[in-house]
Amino acid sequence: MAGQECSEALDRLFEYIDDELPADEVHRIGEHLKTCPPCEAEHQIKEKIKELTSHAGGERAPDQLRERVLASLRAVREDG
Ligand SMILES: [Zn+2]
Repeated sequence: MAGQECSEALDRLFEYIDDELPADEVHRIGEHLKTCPPCEAEHQIKEKIKELTSHAGGERAPDQLRERVLASLRAVREDG
């Protein structure tokens, strides 16, 4: 079950990745990600999406792309 901290962290992930948050928020979310594997996984996915879309003019990731990223991350996990 996702707690309050999780929903806050997940809410702000895109801003966190885009460096749009004040330093104390960045620190708080960073600390949470270190201790919360499900949120860290979501963070990795969003970073990957940002990385991929930054080459495509900075537009929001299309669902197709998101699905592809998720699938590739799942494949990596099943491997390990
Ligand atoms: Zn969490």
